[in-house]
Parts: sequence; C-alpha cells; structure tokens
Amino acid sequence: NEEIEEYRKKKNIHISGDGVPKPVYTFEEASFPSYVLSEVLKAGFTEPSPIQSQGWPMALMGRDLIGLAETGSGKTLAYLLPAIVHINAQPYLEPGDGPIVLALAPTRELAVQIQQECARFGMSSKIKSTCIYGGAPKGPQIRDLRTGVEIVIATPGRLIDMLDSRCTNLKRVTYLVLDEADRMLDMGFEPQIKAIVSQIRPDRQTLLWSATWPNEVKAIAAAFLKDPYQVTIGSQDL
Ligand code: ADP
Ligand code: MG
Repeated sequence: NEEIEEYRKKKNIHISGDGVPKPVYTFEEASFPSYVLSEVLKAGFTEPSPIQSQGWPMALMGRDLIGLAETGSGKTLAYLLPAIVHINAQPYLEPGDGPIVLALAPTRELAVQIQQECARFGMSSKIKSTCIYGGAPKGPQIRDLRTGVEIVIATPGRLIDMLDSRCTNLKRVTYLVLDEADRMLDMGFEPQIKAIVSQIRPDRQTLLWSATWPNEVKAIAAAFLKDPYQVTIGSQDL
C-alpha cells in the first residue's frame, strides 16, 4: 500500500520479515490499555517515534523482533508498552512465581532508567517491577523478588547470582528483552547472557535492541531469536 510505503520512507523505517504489520501513526491506534495511553499523552508526547510506530505492531503480534535505532529514539517504550499488554494477557502471579518479563541491560544506570520508564507508564499500582544490579546490597533486591514482580530489569551478573541462590527463577518468563545488545557484548556479558537465556522457555517472545549491528550482535540474534521481524531506523548498515 502506497500510503504505508510513503510513511516508512518519510520516517526512514526499514523492515524485514514476512507479513510485516502496518506501522501505527498514533498512540491510540496501538491499542494499549487506557491508563497507559493517558500517561503517554500526559507526558506531552505528540506521536510515536519511528521505532515505536513500526515496532509496536510487530511486538504486539507476539513475534520475535530486532529493533535497531540510534540512542534517544524511544526504544525503551518500544518494548515496554507491548510488555504491559503481554503481562495483562497472562494469568495472575502466584506466590513464588518469577517474573513474566525479563529485560537485560548492560549497566545499573540503564537498568534504573528502564525501571523509571516502567513506573511512569506501567503505573506501579498495576504492574510491579524491580531492578537487579551489582554493586548494591542484595537484601532489598531479594525482598522485592520474593514479593513477586511481573517485570525484572537486570544486569546479567547479579541476575545469575540471584538465580544460583534461588532467589528467583525464570520459569514464567515469556517476554525477554535484550536491551543495548551491542554494549552488553562489548562489556563481555555474552557467557552470562547465554547462561540466563538457557533457563528461559524456548517458546518465549524475544526482543533484541541495539544502536549498532555488528557481527557479534547478529550472531546472538541468530542464536536467541526465531524468525524475527527486523526494524531499522535510519541507515540500514548501522
Ligand atoms: P533509546 O533507548 O532509543 O536510547 P529512550 O527509550 O531512552 O531511547 O528514549 C529517550 C527519551 O525519549 C526518553 O526520555 C523518553 O521518555 C522519550 N520518548 C520516548 N518515546 C517518545 C515519543 N514518542 N515522543 C517523545 N518522547 C519520547
Ligand atoms: Mg535504550
């Protein structure tokens, strides 16, 4: 359809995969819960960023997704808002259940930022999240995990600690996010990522995000994602 092609061209959206859904032009079109929509509008956002516009309908189809776009392009909400829809479609948490959504990020700072975005748009009262990172006491993190949270945002090393000491488990994870995949690999987290992903059910949805697309990132995408859609904003050879 010409209008869609025109829009993608204007926004510099490149896609690959079979049966790619049309981008959404407005927040309303993405069919997020009304409490999410109202927060997005309250934040003063006028329209979805290109990665959101094309990434949301792709993620909402339940498909694996590679999202490539430069820093500052809105990748966090590109995976968090579909994560909320995903969580709402799952049965309630039982005591002792691990998270439904796991987001891996390279640094404590980034993990905290992601959780702030979560709190802002996931409405802390409806969806509980916690941040698991090193260089901080484990006690509060363990307590959070024990109360039961739908979303865990973690750096790989500390999460492995928590898994080894059975403070949480990944049996319920069905939505896995690898954020800043390029930076995680640069920092040498590949073995930890592999160890974590091996504990997650294979029929999960996996979403990988990166600002660059070097061979190492291509390799983990090939290893961890199944028949993914890909959306790239800007230059196609990041
Ligand atoms: P990235 O992960 O691609 O580097 P972020 O997700 O951190 O980018 O987003 C950068 C900033 O843009 C954040 O402050 C975020 O709240 C804001 N933002 C996200 N989506 C939109 C939007 N549709 N319109 C305006 N600002 C947005
Ligand atoms: Mg980001």
